[in-house]
Amino acid sequence: METSRRDFLKVATIGGAAASVFGFDLAPAYAQLRELKIARATETRSTCPYCSVSCGVIIYTLGDKAKNVTPQVVHVEGDPDHPINRGTLCPKGASLEQDILNERRLLKPQVRRPGATDWEDISWDKALDEIAARMKKTRDDTFVEKDANGKTVNRCESIAWAGGCTDTNEFNYLVVKAMRSLGVCYLENQARV
Ligand code: SF4
Repeated sequence: METSRRDFLKVATIGGAAASVFGFDLAPAYAQLRELKIARATETRSTCPYCSVSCGVIIYTLGDKAKNVTPQVVHVEGDPDHPINRGTLCPKGASLEQDILNERRLLKPQVRRPGATDWEDISWDKALDEIAARMKKTRDDTFVEKDANGKTVNRCESIAWAGGCTDTNEFNYLVVKAMRSLGVCYLENQARV
């Protein structure tokens, strides 16, 4: 049987779903290839951070157990045992590997000072100190004890909190407690299950 390079590539593109021009099914070979890619990887179960559906994912990393080797994420896929998504992921969730391995990913807090046009890196300690100082000053300056009718309200209308979808349930619980204790009434988060 004559098999051209073009025929071979055509079959490779189809992915071995059907019997090939070689006369046998390539599907098991492709399954084996995929198996090899993650064969020595460590599985970590996690949750997609993008939206409140909270689909379960499995993150595969290589190099976790070797000395002096930085673990490297090699594959991310839907968790077939997860009750929410049963192994499926939407296109955004399916791109998670690029979210993790992205040279533009921010790894440090940044601040843009008043009047500045650029963002500057800042340490976590400094960021927390600055946020705490600004929150205290803003609250001290603007706290409302009584409304226009003289009714006690004890609220802080000048601070708002918006939580992202990467926040866990537990984190959101603590945020709501903390913000309510400060009198913040404008707070929103994306509840996770
Ligand atoms: S995979 Fe899609 S639907 Fe599921 S949590 Fe992520 S973004 Fe939401």
